Amino acid sequence: MKMSFNLEQITRENIKKLTPYSSARDEFSGEAKVFLDANENSLGSPLTKWYNRYPDPHQRAIKEKLGRIKGIAPEHIFLGNGSDECIDLLFRSFCEPGKDNVVICPPTYGMYEVSANINDIAIRKAPLLEDFQLNLVHLETLVDANTKLIWLCSPNNPTGNALNRADIEMVLNNFNGIVVIDEAYINFSKQKTFIQELVDYPNLVVLQTLSKAWGLAGLRLGMAFASAGIIGILDKVKPPYNINQATQELVLKALEEVGQVNDMIRILVDMREAMAEVFRSMPTVEKVYPSDANFLLVKIKEARNIYEFLLTKGIVLRDRSNVTLCEDCLRVTIGTEKENTLLVEAMHEWYAR
Ligand SMILES: *Cc1c(COP(=O)(O)O)cnc(C)c1O
Repeated sequence: MKMSFNLEQITRENIKKLTPYSSARDEFSGEAKVFLDANENSLGSPLTKWYNRYPDPHQRAIKEKLGRIKGIAPEHIFLGNGSDECIDLLFRSFCEPGKDNVVICPPTYGMYEVSANINDIAIRKAPLLEDFQLNLVHLETLVDANTKLIWLCSPNNPTGNALNRADIEMVLNNFNGIVVIDEAYINFSKQKTFIQELVDYPNLVVLQTLSKAWGLAGLRLGMAFASAGIIGILDKVKPPYNINQATQELVLKALEEVGQVNDMIRILVDMREAMAEVFRSMPTVEKVYPSDANFLLVKIKEARNIYEFLLTKGIVLRDRSNVTLCEDCLRVTIGTEKENTLLVEAMHEWYAR
């Protein structure tokens, strides 16, 4: 292993020096009868009475329960208002605006680049190879002393494939900055998560979310798993009450339903494979890419026209036809049985027109 990671060295100076906001709930978190410390409305709220109180800034109950599900201690868990908040916080904690750079591997999730641009961090691109795997040779040439983060998405959006584990390990073993592995779709994959590798890699951050397999996109809960040191820095930088009370309560309930979620995952994966077969049998489909996610990337003649035709039928796909390496591709989320049927019927109408 050539990697020599030093958290102190890669953290921004202003963040190292930062005294974080100390909330009323930080300064007193014990049992008391009368809370007159946070300027809340003591009379109550128009909703459930206790919504007048600020939520737990450390989300202890969720981390406890999530930790048991994921097999990891709470001090290795950070919770964000969606993964998108985790992505932004990683830039703000480790990348010096106007000076540092990060590497992404397109085609991939768009927020890495948007978040980099918002934070004035230079983006370097190591496009995936034809088979949508990492180009390690190119990637290595892009890294310099100011490269702070390498963003890997596995399974990748919009291509749907998982990255080769050995390639990811190669990056982890040789990069002195932070390797972020975005596992938003890991529950649909045959690949196993990197969470259990955190003990071996101090430079690893794994992102997951409740937005996909857990079916809770509307609640906004993203997770970052990393060393206690990295988690401590993200905690310092986050807004104090970034996960609201309603989300915390509902997520705690949802986390009791692992079985139900696993059932949905099985059904979605089965439908994914069935839909892949259906698309493969369509005359103008050139390729249905193998998917480890809850969507399919389909290469099809006249992709843009089909996209627009489907819109007139009230069906929205994601048009990726002008994305490099995804020419003529549409990204299709696996829907309900009924929705999938409606899509297939509309496709038959396209061919019959
Ligand atoms: C959907 C998705 C996310 C989830 O973002 P949230 O903010 O948690 O909803 C993260 N990464 C990728 C690659 C995604 O496709």
